[in-house]
Amino acid sequence: MAKQRDRELGMNRAITRRDFLNGVALTIGTALVPSQLFASGSNFAPEKAADYYPPGRMGLRGSHVGSFEVAHNLRDGDFWEHAGEPSDTNEEFDLVVVGGGISGLSAAHYFRKAAGQNARILILDNHDDFGGHAKRNEFHIGHQFRLGFGGTFSIESPAPYSSVAKALVNELGIDVASWSKVVDRNLYKSLGLSPGIFFDKETFGTDRLVIDPRPLAGGEAADLSVNAPDAWKRFMAQAPLSAVTKRDLERLTHERKDYYPDLSSAQKKDRLARISYAKFLTEVAGVSNELVHLYQAAPHPLFGVGVDAVSAQDAWGLGYPGFEGMNLDAGPGPGMNRDAIRSEEADRYFFHFPDGNASIARLLVRKLIPAAIPGNTSADIVTARANYARLDDSASPVKIRLNSTAVRVRHRGDVASVKEVEVAYVRGGKLQSVRGKNAILACWHVVIPYICTELPSAQKAALASAAKVPLVYTNVAIRNWTSFKKLGVDYIHSPGGYHSNVALDLPVSLGAYHASRSPEEAMVLHMSRTPCRPGLPAREQHRIGRMQLFTTTFETFERNIRDQLARTLSAGGFDPARDIAGITVNRWPHGYAYEYNSLFDKFWLEGGEQPCVIARQRFGRIGIANADAAAYAYTDAAIDEAYRAVQEITSSAASSARAW
Ligand SMILES: Cc1cc2nc3c(=O)[nH]c(=O)nc-3n(C[C@H](O)[C@H](O)[C@H](O)COP(=O)(O)OP(=O)(O)OC[C@H]3O[C@@H](n4cnc5c(N)ncnc54)[C@H](O)[C@@H]3O)c2cc1C
Repeated sequence: MAKQRDRELGMNRAITRRDFLNGVALTIGTALVPSQLFASGSNFAPEKAADYYPPGRMGLRGSHVGSFEVAHNLRDGDFWEHAGEPSDTNEEFDLVVVGGGISGLSAAHYFRKAAGQNARILILDNHDDFGGHAKRNEFHIGHQFRLGFGGTFSIESPAPYSSVAKALVNELGIDVASWSKVVDRNLYKSLGLSPGIFFDKETFGTDRLVIDPRPLAGGEAADLSVNAPDAWKRFMAQAPLSAVTKRDLERLTHERKDYYPDLSSAQKKDRLARISYAKFLTEVAGVSNELVHLYQAAPHPLFGVGVDAVSAQDAWGLGYPGFEGMNLDAGPGPGMNRDAIRSEEADRYFFHFPDGNASIARLLVRKLIPAAIPGNTSADIVTARANYARLDDSASPVKIRLNSTAVRVRHRGDVASVKEVEVAYVRGGKLQSVRGKNAILACWHVVIPYICTELPSAQKAALASAAKVPLVYTNVAIRNWTSFKKLGVDYIHSPGGYHSNVALDLPVSLGAYHASRSPEEAMVLHMSRTPCRPGLPAREQHRIGRMQLFTTTFETFERNIRDQLARTLSAGGFDPARDIAGITVNRWPHGYAYEYNSLFDKFWLEGGEQPCVIARQRFGRIGIANADAAAYAYTDAAIDEAYRAVQEITSSAASSARAW
């Protein structure tokens, strides 16, 4: 039976699954033994090969096999027993940056502005591609070329971009105001498509796709407007929900009831900040558990948890139903998550490249190392092919060294007076070290206590508390999207699905890149999965989800993707065996920066020092960046924190009268 189902789903079909075997072979529980970590030897230079091109790789990407084993070994404590002493490459830099995401690349950019164009900078990253979460996925489907985003989706932030971040966006030549010209905003509406909701039989007793009359914010729909005037009526007729739940839904959505009539607006917000939306629904609004199941996964893509771990105040901020009659003042209450505080100014500042913010990373790389990426506009960057062989070139003052995990960053003597930092890293199984006058750690904060052991213990504890939110961004290349047209959907939320959302790509045409505009053309579907364990505190849910991601094979992902798409779309003629041309699963066990939550972080609700403030303190010649430094999972935070870290190390350099 299982074999037959696998055949129907196309598990045997020849699509590119380059990383498949590795994905099966390696898990967190089977970390490489030290002898394997130090296996490759000194001639390791895969980036120099003509066919080295990570954006084209499929299978299990994101935190791909080969990127995390060294760091996990360091975490597990026995790394230095087997590593020996690093061999000095005899390179000296003005700045060594750990982490080649947008924060690390921005730090290099700002440092160069302060120290001059000839400043020697080395950027180390443990992945085979630069950009951190801002990764690019490429697909060739017959003669059609399609791009997808493997992580960071767009220039957007619930709070307005700072003048610093805006200035960088401008400097990179990105015209945010041109957004409406590059996106074909009405394409899907003109084809009669609307958001849908897929009820799965495991959760709701039957598989059924229904137009969603009131899609909730927090998902990834490009457009939440519903294109069907009778959607509510149809939903009530077709949704496989009990009569009680339908009545509850009707009441919750349309009734204007004040559940706390004796409290002031401020007191109500305080109360809502202390209970989850799930509890508010069942214990305050008195709706059925089935309705909670319907809403459970709505905030997954935004928070990495469901409504059990999102406060009712945040749900109110996001516009979820139940609060219309509560007479709450417009402003945010204490402890509100920044994602739940909307700002019109911030909403207007939106731009999406076909590969997401990978284009920002690529524009930064082109600024730092012009020989690595051809072209000179923010439109031609979209189709420009990066030459990875030029990233780490002896002739260039700025170098990006991929496949390199930093394992030790320390001052070469007394922190107060010494003029050099040593950075040791493992690359191709070899432990090497370089020297820098300064270092910026733009990597994930949880890693820092392991690589920079000389930091004060309170700072290490604060850094360690920044464990990230696990997420999966899957891109599925399909040969056509006629099934979406037939079913009348452009975005499908699946409350009980393996992936909670399936979306047609945003139709953006920029430079020489043209989006799929006709249902007969190839398309990249974007799917997102949030591994979590409802009912537990958020950080615990993230920890369990992270473990789950490191131990899930590509085969499991693929089977679930094919099964979910088949069950959702087959009524529209979709055949996974025939229609799927490629799958890239971008797994991010260390995904979003952890944002504080009024349900679990008392200091956030009641006041007190935020761990990220303690975590990001400069230590001697070592500055600390990354979006974690702001506890804010957005690109502007990555940029702002890079700017701050550079200011800190350059102003301390000036005060100690030291030339670069
Ligand atoms: C799936 C996903 C979607 C997102 N979508 C958006 C969005 O739409 N808009 C938005 O503004 N933000 C989004 N974000 C948030 C995103 O994290 C930030 O916008 C930004 O890209 C973070 O940049 P960063 O440089 O701070 O961190 P990262 O991108 O994480 O870069 C840090 C780099 O340091 C590397 N590193 C870690 N340890 C070491 C070590 N020991 N040695 C060497 N390298 C190391 C990491 O592997 C990584 O490559 C998203 C994040 C995820 C995960």
